[in-house]
Amino acid sequence: MANFKLDAKVPEGPLADKWTSYKDKINLVNPANKRSIDVIVVGTGLAGGSAAATLAELGYNVKAFCYQDSPRRAHSIAAQGGINAAKNYQGDGDSNYRLFYDTVKGGDYRSREANVHRLAEVSGNIIDQCVAQGVPFARDYGGLLDNRSFGGVLVSRTFYAKGQTGQQLLLGAYSAMNRQIARGKIQMYNRHEMLDLVIVGGKARGIIARNLITGEIERHSAHAVVIASGGYGNVYFLSTNAMGSNVTAGWKIHKKGAFFANPCYTQIHPTCIPRSGDYQSKLTLMSESLRNDGRIWVPKNMDDVMAIREGRLKPTEIAEENRDYYLERRYPAFGNLVPRDVASRAAKERCDAGYGVNKTGEAVYLDFKAAIERYGKEQAMIHGLKDASLEKIIDLGTEVIRSKYGNLFQMYEKIVDEDPYTTPMMIYPATHYTMGGIWVDYNLMTTIPGCYAIGEANFSDHGANRLGASALMQGLADGYFVLPYTIGHYLSDDIRTGPIPTDSPEFEAAENSVKEKLDFFVNNKGTHSVDYYHKKLGKIMWDKVGMARSKEGLTEAIAEIKAIRKDFWKNVSVPGDSNDLNPELEKATRVADFLELGELFAKDALERNESCGGHFREDYQTEDGEALRDDVNYAYVAAWEYKGEPSDAVLHKEELEFKDIELKTRSYK
Ligand SMILES: Cc1cc2nc3c(=O)[nH]c(=O)nc-3n(C[C@H](O)[C@H](O)[C@H](O)COP(=O)(O)OP(=O)(O)OC[C@H]3O[C@@H](n4cnc5c(N)ncnc54)[C@H](O)[C@@H]3O)c2cc1C
Repeated sequence: MANFKLDAKVPEGPLADKWTSYKDKINLVNPANKRSIDVIVVGTGLAGGSAAATLAELGYNVKAFCYQDSPRRAHSIAAQGGINAAKNYQGDGDSNYRLFYDTVKGGDYRSREANVHRLAEVSGNIIDQCVAQGVPFARDYGGLLDNRSFGGVLVSRTFYAKGQTGQQLLLGAYSAMNRQIARGKIQMYNRHEMLDLVIVGGKARGIIARNLITGEIERHSAHAVVIASGGYGNVYFLSTNAMGSNVTAGWKIHKKGAFFANPCYTQIHPTCIPRSGDYQSKLTLMSESLRNDGRIWVPKNMDDVMAIREGRLKPTEIAEENRDYYLERRYPAFGNLVPRDVASRAAKERCDAGYGVNKTGEAVYLDFKAAIERYGKEQAMIHGLKDASLEKIIDLGTEVIRSKYGNLFQMYEKIVDEDPYTTPMMIYPATHYTMGGIWVDYNLMTTIPGCYAIGEANFSDHGANRLGASALMQGLADGYFVLPYTIGHYLSDDIRTGPIPTDSPEFEAAENSVKEKLDFFVNNKGTHSVDYYHKKLGKIMWDKVGMARSKEGLTEAIAEIKAIRKDFWKNVSVPGDSNDLNPELEKATRVADFLELGELFAKDALERNESCGGHFREDYQTEDGEALRDDVNYAYVAAWEYKGEPSDAVLHKEELEFKDIELKTRSYK
């Protein structure tokens, strides 16, 4: 792709009219012709599930793939806190423009304006669609949908279903899919993993998938391929992502010509349950919604820190004046509701300074005492209990907190064995979401014609940072409301193509290369397990490409990842064979891809000589430790072209234009 010019294909015209006028002008496919067009959707989380259901509802023949035993086990099910939409039910000043503004600012001005505006415009439709599907969003006393605040905004626009929003939304998308599975419009391939993309005549025309139960390698063709395979946070080994989340589908299409954008933009979430030891394989998130009511603090005095760590003192015994509510101190305007990158870095700063409150010094407190008392007093008033005792007030307040966050508190208690209603929770930042991913244009098409990427798998409308509750919004916007239009415009050229054969040399070659790789793994008989390599990679990623990065650390990381990758291909050991159910083999193919992505990730972070959002370079910070952005030199999307080794990847820049929003230093003070 020498001389390839990245074209985001953003429509002309005023920002607020772009999407409407685009939709008015695109080509449509007549319903009868849709019946002769096939679309492959890889992934059935919220993005893929909503896309598959909508495309089938429109009349296309959909083949949907996921590696779980059912679409309803996709990682999206884990989403707890909520989904944003500019409905302004509260009358607190929300609007499409404000959601657009907050998202661009929250993304540290590294998003594409036109995409973010479209996202804000369709956000309201998502809520209507999901309510119509029966998603049980929380409601207020008057029956309207309730909502709460998330970090980085000054309005309440997050719709939620207790702490199970992702699960309820996924059940909605899944039932919409099931309706079409029953009608035969969606062929569902559970327990199938896409291992390569097939390009015929320059267009994406199919995939090679492995049946994970039988080991059979299958060829599947279509007129277009949609990748909805989720995020790659597990490159860190430990993350809040589902254990199976991986980069394989994205990485395979990258190797076939799709550019990979902003790999270094990762979100580190501030409110996770701290790591408890070296033998853990997963971290657990406590939803950001908790920061609506929880206050974050560490002790002010080192004596108290030591006493707590040694078990001589309980956090509840530390007087108010001896606590450092560091977010409220540093960011009076947003307080505990600063965006995730800011809250994560502030926790790291306190813990690095020695004030961490667990044995490893990697935890801060999230405390509900004040909220319990506040709600309790309110309830006492409502119930006419003028002289309620403190005990009664605490009982009443505890019930309010239980009704808002009960399942999250229960989860915490099960894992940590402490009652968070009576003692503050301990939290610490962990890898959570990847804003980087496959580069797509305004149509959500990758640099491979006919290959689309949606949801967390693409490089995200969120920019360098993602505000809470906006991933679900983007996944569902892409699947329900954007892709169904844009893909139709592309497929309108395919109404006479007819079925795509799977016996072409391109399918043959792709299948052979997949088989070759699988054979290598089961025959290598090396000395180390796949996890051995994954853990090593994860440690380098966390230590040197994690919450804070430096030129030296990144340079070391690149060399170290290269060395691990070399060793992996020499000494990895995968038990069992490839003609059977073999989870170790599945892991091996995924870790092989992480070992390449990890290097590109570090290379991207090294290239970006600035701090923005989730990418914090220690060498680019202000005197008071805030991110130092460089809009003159780095206001672009970094889209990498595959050239063999990650170190040979070629950088293409999509310059970002900010016509409707003034670029400012992001401040939450
Ligand atoms: C604990 C947690 C809580 C969260 N809470 C929130 C929240 O409150 N609000 C919010 O907005 N966001 C939240 N997020 C983020 C949000 O959940 C995700 O960004 C979003 O669900 C991703 O959806 P997706 O459809 O893109 O991918 P996923 O849900 O990850 O789905 C990926 C799909 O791709 C399939 N797949 C992957 N690779 C292959 C392959 N090679 N072959 C075949 N199939 C493949 C999988 O089987 C799966 O079906 C949370 C994330 C976590 C980890």
